[in-house]
Amino acid sequence: MVETSHDLTLALNGHETPVALASADQKQATLYEAGELSGVRVVLRGFPAGNRSADVSLAIIVAIDGVSDEPVVRVIPAHDPQRVIREVRYPRPFVLEGRGPGVHHVLPSMQGALLPTDWPGKIDWWWIGLNWTRAIYMPWWGAIRPGDAYMGILETPFDGGLHFSHPPGGPTEVGPKWHPSMGSLSYPRQVRYHLFGSVDHNALVAKYREYARTIGRLKTLETKATEVPEVKLLQGTTVATGYTLYHIQPDSHYYHPDDPAKNHNLRTFEESIRGVERLREIYPTERLVYHLDGWGTRGYDNLHPDYLPPCEEAGGWDGFKKLAEAVDRLGWLFTTHDNYIDYYVDAPTYREYLARVAEDGSVPGKAWWYGGAQTFLCERNALGFVRRNFEEILRRRVPLRATYLDVFSIIEMLECYHPDHPMTREQSLQARAECFEWVRSRGIVLSSEEPTDWSVPYIDFCYWAPVAMADESPDAPTFGIPVPLFNQTYHDCVVTPAPLGKSGAVSEKDAFLYALLYGCPPIVAAPEPKVQSGPGAPVESAARSAHFHRAKILADVHRQTGFEPIEAHDLLNTEGTARVTRFTGGASIEGDFTAGKYRIVGLKGIDDTWQVVPD
Ligand SMILES: [Zn+2]
Repeated sequence: MVETSHDLTLALNGHETPVALASADQKQATLYEAGELSGVRVVLRGFPAGNRSADVSLAIIVAIDGVSDEPVVRVIPAHDPQRVIREVRYPRPFVLEGRGPGVHHVLPSMQGALLPTDWPGKIDWWWIGLNWTRAIYMPWWGAIRPGDAYMGILETPFDGGLHFSHPPGGPTEVGPKWHPSMGSLSYPRQVRYHLFGSVDHNALVAKYREYARTIGRLKTLETKATEVPEVKLLQGTTVATGYTLYHIQPDSHYYHPDDPAKNHNLRTFEESIRGVERLREIYPTERLVYHLDGWGTRGYDNLHPDYLPPCEEAGGWDGFKKLAEAVDRLGWLFTTHDNYIDYYVDAPTYREYLARVAEDGSVPGKAWWYGGAQTFLCERNALGFVRRNFEEILRRRVPLRATYLDVFSIIEMLECYHPDHPMTREQSLQARAECFEWVRSRGIVLSSEEPTDWSVPYIDFCYWAPVAMADESPDAPTFGIPVPLFNQTYHDCVVTPAPLGKSGAVSEKDAFLYALLYGCPPIVAAPEPKVQSGPGAPVESAARSAHFHRAKILADVHRQTGFEPIEAHDLLNTEGTARVTRFTGGASIEGDFTAGKYRIVGLKGIDDTWQVVPD
């Protein structure tokens, strides 16, 4: 284990004070037996704080689960009358000894990554390393070396996360971190370890998938389709993104003071109908999600949660409904983009008493997105606005088949300290889940942003689940060797569309290969409205046609594999530039990033020889 100066933080006289658990005045161990568990319970009492001792005791249970032979460690705030235990980092990180091929940590950051201990790059750890953020899509981690491996599952994931560091060249340090809930440790926290013999990352994924099943998180798309039948139409779909109005307020970070025309970009609903017709000509398909941004009163990221009426300048209710009907006639899913967390202060129904209050009593806010000044709607107050808006749209018989509730699935769990609507992090997820459930109860197929795994039982598809990157800069390198830990766990539960453009070090061709190997359907941009047709009409550029060609391949593969689990994702060389994904139905997809080639085997109507990525 890694030696550390402190693994406990106490809030003493208003100051966060680091303390070592080992420095406790008294340590008392007794045997602990409970059902399946057998081990010891150690009480640590009194910690040195200046010239006195903090009146705090923690209990730590270390036991073996006799049913599964797995070690379990529980940290309990046994005595904390002043609620001063702020954070615990325990158990301490294990040292992963050795370097070179096959020695790496396994981290569920974004889609997931293998991080060699001596990886030369720097890795940014997102925010404070809380579960269910970009840092940790799923609450577990692992380490592998030739001959053996382990993984840890954070069984109390709310207010939990991972402490992580990786300087360039290593070593990597990663272990559990328990955050306060409403000011203090508040309740027992538990991590479960599993020890393996000689395995690769596939074994760790299989273990977590089994765990996810035991806690009811493995709700499949087939099951979801029994509740909302149009979920079936996601198999082999393509997501096309369109927009109505991008309007930028003067106090937004994005405002162009020198070029006012850039602050107001409108595409009417009528123009979008012509764009839909053009898309159908360029890209004939039976299955498509038409995701519409900026359709509300003042466009994209403005005036939330007051979307209605739909943008008057673009055609209002009448134009909005006609666009939805045009999409619906093609059998495509008309999908609105909404957000019930960014809370704009100039929204007509804005009331500050509904906003989230931070621990220090302030109302956090910013003026960054297009709509300018905002606070955050406390999730406990979101459902009322969701019901109000969706009921009105449905009452007007708009064929709304799907919707996208922005942010909810990826933004960190939040606390609220407003006395009218206090909220723990766990309750913030419950409140978001209530919004999700309500929307699906109206027969609407549901998506949200990036798919952290608490949201798996509630959402049918997500916006995207990106390949793991080391940071958020435009030229970011990959996070070690990216692997699809998330899709290996949940491919049959959530559809994860992939954009096909360049992203950091991932080129357009690589983006296609990752999408193919991760089992993703494509995202394309809905084209500009049709200007003219027939002889003399503008010809699609070569780049655009390659883009749609690649999209079609992904959609065709997804049509046959989209609801199947991924059985394995194997690296065929140390660098991960050659890989193969095997689906449970027998199909396999091999990719060679160096040669820019792929081979699809075992699918009907698809050539099973090596193909060059279309360009
Ligand atoms: Zn609240």
